[in-house]
Amino acid sequence: MQCRLCLKETVLLKKSHIWSDFLYTQMYDDKHRLVNLSLQNYRSKFVQSGLHEADILCAKCDNEVINQYETYAKTVFCDEVIPPVQVNYFRKEDGLEYTVINGLDYTKFKLFCLSLLWRASISNLPFFAKVKLGKYEEAIREMLNSGNAGELGSFPCMLSRYHNQNLPSEIVGEPREIRVPSAGVKYQNIGYVLVIGGWVFIYNITNKNTDEVFGETVITKEGRIMIPHIPYDQGVKILNHLFNKKIFI
Ligand SMILES: [Zn+2]
Repeated sequence: MQCRLCLKETVLLKKSHIWSDFLYTQMYDDKHRLVNLSLQNYRSKFVQSGLHEADILCAKCDNEVINQYETYAKTVFCDEVIPPVQVNYFRKEDGLEYTVINGLDYTKFKLFCLSLLWRASISNLPFFAKVKLGKYEEAIREMLNSGNAGELGSFPCMLSRYHNQNLPSEIVGEPREIRVPSAGVKYQNIGYVLVIGGWVFIYNITNKNTDEVFGETVITKEGRIMIPHIPYDQGVKILNHLFNKKIFI
């Protein structure tokens, strides 16, 4: 069978994770079952070991190529931060709080973010049905396969988080399409939003240089990213929107 990443005809793995296990760290219950809330019916389902799929990736692509991005991101998201990565917090005059990370590896961090979206797009699981990258799926595959994260404005990803806002972080929302404002143009671009374990990933599906749309919240080539802390009321809106119900007030 053909590997979806390297495109070689080879033996494929029977279990590839669509989203990295470590992002679910906070989401396992005391029996180590994943709390997985489905958008369509807002019904808790328990999945023993996360969302995975057979026959999409070969061992090399999963265990080496994708794994190098995941391993790197895990050190940033979960493990003790080691230099040159530095994490600081600050509050702007308007009261908004941010986590600022410096010293990141632009290529690995960005490709990790894109790998989440790309794997959702190639997945046949119903949970990921709304992610269809179309012609951009191939462009992102090439970036992941070649280890080239491209320019700043090439498929930029904005990260934010709603930890510590009295909102449940034990949620994996079904990814969905959104409209993203595009600077300097009248139309709104297609984007996707992923909500995983208190983190919100917002992607702008463009390979044009539109990085000004997200401004400082996109990782720079110098390895700096500003991660806004979503205020409680906005977090409520995001979660209610995800579930199409007024669950949180
Ligand atoms: Zn492969």
